[in-house]
Amino acid sequence: MNDELATLLAHDPELGTGPVAPPIVQTSLFVFASFEAMAQAFTGETPRPIYSRGANPTVRACEQKLAALEQAEAARGFASGMGAISAAVLSQVKSGERVVCVRQVYPDTYRLLLKLLPRLGIETVFVDGRDLGAVERALPGAALLYLESPTSLLFECHDLAALAGLARAAGVTTIADNSWATPLLQRPLQLGVDLVVHSASKYLAGHSDVVAGMVAGSGERIAQIDDLTYPYLGARLSPLDAWLLLRGMRTLALRMPRHQTSALWLARQLAAHPDVAVVHHPALAGDHDMAGTSGLFSIELDPAIDIPRFCDALTLFRLGVSWGGYESLAFPAMIGLRQKAGANSLQAFGVSARLVRLSIGLESPADLLRDLDQALAAGKQPA
Ligand SMILES: *Cc1c(COP(=O)(O)O)cnc(C)c1O
Repeated sequence: MNDELATLLAHDPELGTGPVAPPIVQTSLFVFASFEAMAQAFTGETPRPIYSRGANPTVRACEQKLAALEQAEAARGFASGMGAISAAVLSQVKSGERVVCVRQVYPDTYRLLLKLLPRLGIETVFVDGRDLGAVERALPGAALLYLESPTSLLFECHDLAALAGLARAAGVTTIADNSWATPLLQRPLQLGVDLVVHSASKYLAGHSDVVAGMVAGSGERIAQIDDLTYPYLGARLSPLDAWLLLRGMRTLALRMPRHQTSALWLARQLAAHPDVAVVHHPALAGDHDMAGTSGLFSIELDPAIDIPRFCDALTLFRLGVSWGGYESLAFPAMIGLRQKAGANSLQAFGVSARLVRLSIGLESPADLLRDLDQALAAGKQPA
């Protein structure tokens, strides 16, 4: 893992002396001593926060931390990962333009591209991100290449550097969702991607108590977001959530190696388990160039296992969406496949109803394996 980030995560040099934890500046607006002071804040002569939908010191501290981690010039915090993704995408494409997107992106990203963008005159084509030739053929004339690696549910890994290179050569902007890997495992901007987006609700916050998002990139790209989407879509990160996120990130460099070790051990045990047909884990597929792996992977269960019964027998693994917290979670694709929100990416990309996604938390991996073992036994159809 990118261990040099551990120091960045633990320190806030800009805070200087005084309270070691940053203050939660829980205010909607900022007041001024005089007409002149207010006017200077408005023109930017004296950069000062005016209103928390635009800027807030606690949120700014969080943005600076994420920018440093991604080695970006700037970052913006959002009220959710989807707030970050929609603001980033809509800042980079306009009516009449085309988006190229990798298959198996996060389901709500898929719906954004398939349901909302066509209403604005923006079409999306989906390509297999492992097939560089197919991506190269889809790029001419496109405005944006949207990337996510590893992909949701099947955790296919893409060569982000090669994809960013193809896009650059074709004059196409790139955005990459880096939620799964975090900057500890992968820094897309260093691989040539233009904007990196995060669901900070997952590993960055890490405690399943925050919904938040982040975008990072060059000053120029972030200025486009500031100019076109950020203030008007209004999905601003709140001061309290920014504070929780800063607090969560303190331990990221401790949590990620634990998630990695436990998940990898469990994935190997499950790969050898007679009731498990397939394990989708980037390290087992052996085709990634990240600096490690995280704690989210999926398995496909043998037809002999009744999936609802398997789920109901789990005791340590809880049933739930989201991931990246301290607690282990199971999400059966069977339920996602039934979802009627329209434009179902699980259906579109042929995700198996036998698939169960596992988010490995911070518990003892031996306890987790015992839980999976007994649930698999319980899930076996009666002979
Ligand atoms: C959860 C998730 C999102 C959306 O983030 P929210 O914070 O839930 O809005 C985006 N991308 C990926 C890969 C996710 O898992």
